[in-house]
Amino acid sequence: MASHGYFPTESELALNGAAQTALHERAAVATRIQFGNKVFVRAVVEVSNFCRKNCTYCGMRRDNRSLARYRAQAEQIAGLLIEHRPASVTDVNIQTGEDPAAVREVVLPLIKTLRRETSLGISVCLGTLSPELYAELQSAGASIFIMKFETGDAAQYEQLEAPGTLAERLRHVRLLAESKWNVSSGFIAGLPGQTPHDLLKNFELARSLPLSGCSVSPFIPGEDTPLAKSPTANPDWTFNCVSALRLMRPDWVIPAVSAFNLAAQDGYRRGLRAGANLVTINLTPTDVRGDYVIYKRDRFIMTEERVLNAISAEGLTPSKQGLADFYRGKPVNGVVTQKFSETAVQA
Ligand code: SF4
Repeated sequence: MASHGYFPTESELALNGAAQTALHERAAVATRIQFGNKVFVRAVVEVSNFCRKNCTYCGMRRDNRSLARYRAQAEQIAGLLIEHRPASVTDVNIQTGEDPAAVREVVLPLIKTLRRETSLGISVCLGTLSPELYAELQSAGASIFIMKFETGDAAQYEQLEAPGTLAERLRHVRLLAESKWNVSSGFIAGLPGQTPHDLLKNFELARSLPLSGCSVSPFIPGEDTPLAKSPTANPDWTFNCVSALRLMRPDWVIPAVSAFNLAAQDGYRRGLRAGANLVTINLTPTDVRGDYVIYKRDRFIMTEERVLNAISAEGLTPSKQGLADFYRGKPVNGVVTQKFSETAVQA
């Protein structure tokens, strides 16, 4: 594991005021040294909201009967991405609830079409699947797998009814990395009852994993979930975690997540200011995206305009180099995960 020497303290994660601004500025400098003023721009398409899991923090949990479930058509999404994606988009993230049927019926055909017709880098966020499905996704052309560990505390993981066990989730993260995927993980900051001391476990775990990136998502109490009445995450802790991740691993790609806007006024820009360097434009067709409810139906949708405005307001510019392309041939914790020829992208 590469060590960069920094590890946050409990009090840093709880900073506010001038000391917090100084922490965020340090992180922003570390980001600029590593990535210049470029921010990766990825689109997300949410192609199924069926889910066989029951995480208490998520509105798509299987016990939520109030949700209209959908699986998109691969052709519809492919057409949208091929013909109508914003010019700034270099990569796409294909996301579902944990729904292996959608992986076979929608995600795999979609990836094959995109690989044939576009040069988009392809990320997937599909939950824990079989090694066979991982291999099929990779040979179809996906190269980045997003698999969040959510909390570094195994007992809390179980209490939240997160997928499987924490140990199993981590086995999948390692398996994917060993199979030459670039893996991005992530955790939720501000879960009910969590303290800054508890948050440190996320950092210990994250730095022990073979990751290319990591996200921080503020806890947002989801409608129609067992945690609906719990308080929203403390935004200061959330953004401090972003800065601490950046300082711990300057080389990681850290996304600005749309939920930053639900945690704080101008949250997306605060996330960029705190060290995030990847933005996501939501291209899920408007007729279904109201049902992709991780938190609440009234989502804060990051449109192209909102994303590009936030980037330019922070003095940043969209990266012309895609994320998958950037990762190609780069070592992850000292190990090169992909060789260029193995993932050559067609024009
Ligand atoms: S977080 Fe993922 S696995 Fe858990 S219920 Fe939501 S969509 Fe399903």
